[in-house]
Amino acid sequence: MKRIIEIAQAIEGYDPDALHVDKARAAIRACLAPVQELERVPVREALGRVLAEEIVPAIDVPGHDNTAMDGYAVRFPDLGPETTVLEEIGAALAGKAFAGTVGPGQCVRITTGAVMPAGTDTVVVQEVVKAQGGKVTIPPGQKARQNVRYAGEDLKKGVPVLSPGRPLGAADIGLIASLGIGELAVRRRVRVAFFCTGDELASIGAPLKEGEVYDSNRYTLHGMLARLGVEMRDLGVVRDDPAALEAAFRDAAAWADAIVTTGGVSVGEADFVKPMMAKLGEALFWRIAMRPGRPMAFGRIGAAFLFGLPGNPVAVMVTFYQFVREALLVLGGRAGDCAPLLLDARATEPLRKVAGRTEYQRGILFREGAELQVKATGQQGSGVLRSMSEANCFIVLEHARGRVQAGESVQVQPFEGLA
Ligand code: AMP
Ligand code: MG
Repeated sequence: MKRIIEIAQAIEGYDPDALHVDKARAAIRACLAPVQELERVPVREALGRVLAEEIVPAIDVPGHDNTAMDGYAVRFPDLGPETTVLEEIGAALAGKAFAGTVGPGQCVRITTGAVMPAGTDTVVVQEVVKAQGGKVTIPPGQKARQNVRYAGEDLKKGVPVLSPGRPLGAADIGLIASLGIGELAVRRRVRVAFFCTGDELASIGAPLKEGEVYDSNRYTLHGMLARLGVEMRDLGVVRDDPAALEAAFRDAAAWADAIVTTGGVSVGEADFVKPMMAKLGEALFWRIAMRPGRPMAFGRIGAAFLFGLPGNPVAVMVTFYQFVREALLVLGGRAGDCAPLLLDARATEPLRKVAGRTEYQRGILFREGAELQVKATGQQGSGVLRSMSEANCFIVLEHARGRVQAGESVQVQPFEGLA
C-alpha cells in the first residue's frame, strides 16, 4: 500500500504547515478507495444506500398505452370539424380492459390508467362531452392522440435507468419498485468508529468538576454520522493516557473503515494523542489555512482511515463537513461530485475576514424578493456551538479574499442537504 505521505506530497502546492483547504481535500481524495463488499437488500431498505448494480428494465413502464384522463376513447379520424356524435359501446377501467375492438363511429368510456381499447388513439375528457342514452356528443377542436400515455414512456425495456454509485432516494426506490424488482445490490455501509479525547471532558450524568466541560462532540458527531447513513461505533471519551488511547485506536482499527477522533491534535498540545496516532499507523499533522479548524490529522491505522479533528465544537463540525463527510461518501462508493452545494448570496452586512485562509462563518440565509441574502450569526468563536445551531448555512469566504463589504456577493453552503 502506498504511503499517505507520498500521495500527499505528490499534490502540487502541498504544504502541511499552511495547507490550502483545496489541497487538503485533494490529498484525502487521492488516498481513498471505496469499500468493495456488496449486500442484497429488499427495495425499501435500499433507501439512502449506494446502488451497486445497473438497473435495466425487463419491462416497459407503463406496459400499455393508457389514458391520462377520465373520458372517452375515440378514433381520431371519426371526429369532424363540427360536433360529432358517437355510439358508446362499453367501458375500459383501470385494471379492467375493454375486450373488443372499437369500430368507426364508436367510442368507449374510459378511466385514468385504463388500457386504450383496440382501434382508439385519442381520449376526449369527460368534462367536454355530453353523454345521453348511449350517444356521446363531442365538441370540435380535439387533437389527435391527446391524453394518451404511451407504453415505455416512463421506463423503456432494456434501457438502463440507474447506474452503480447512485445514492438511492425515495423516487429511485419507487422507480425500482415500478419495475417489479424486489431486491437489489447495494454497497456495504461504511463503518465509522469515533471517540473524543481530553482530560477536561465529563460525561452526561456525572457532575461537572471545576474546569470540566460536558463532552458534546460525540453527540454532534453521532448526529452528523447518523445523517450520512454509516454504521457507527461510539467508543466514548478516552482519557489522555497512552494505554487507554492505544486500546481505543486498536479497537477502532480492527473494525472500522474510518476512525474519527476529536481533540489532542492542536500544535503544542502536551498529550499522547498525536504520538499514539503516529506510533500505531501513519498520520499527517496538518495546519490547514482555514478558520475554524486549523489543526487536523489525516492518516491510516491498519486498514482504517484516520481523521483526527480538533477539539473545539465548531471546528469539529466545520472539518467534518468540509473533509470527513465527502471522504465517507467516497468510501461508501458514491459516484460523482460529493462536495457540498455552493450557492451565491448577497451579504447584508460587512464580514470580517483575513486573506490567506478559507473561513467558514456561520450564516443565516434568507430570501429577499428574488435574491438570496445572508448575514452572519453573532459570535463566531470556534467554541461557540450556538453559532452552528442558529445558522442555516456556512458562509464560505475564499482563501484570497479580505474583508467583505455589505452588498458583496459571497458563497454559501446550505446546511439542508449536507446531511
Ligand atoms: P483541543 O483541541 O483538545 O485543544 O480542545 C480545544 C477546546 O475544545 C477546549 O476548550 C476543549 O475543552 C474543547 N473540547 C475538546 N473536546 C471536546 C468535547 N468532546 N466536547 C466539548 N468540548 C470539547
Ligand atoms: Mg485537549
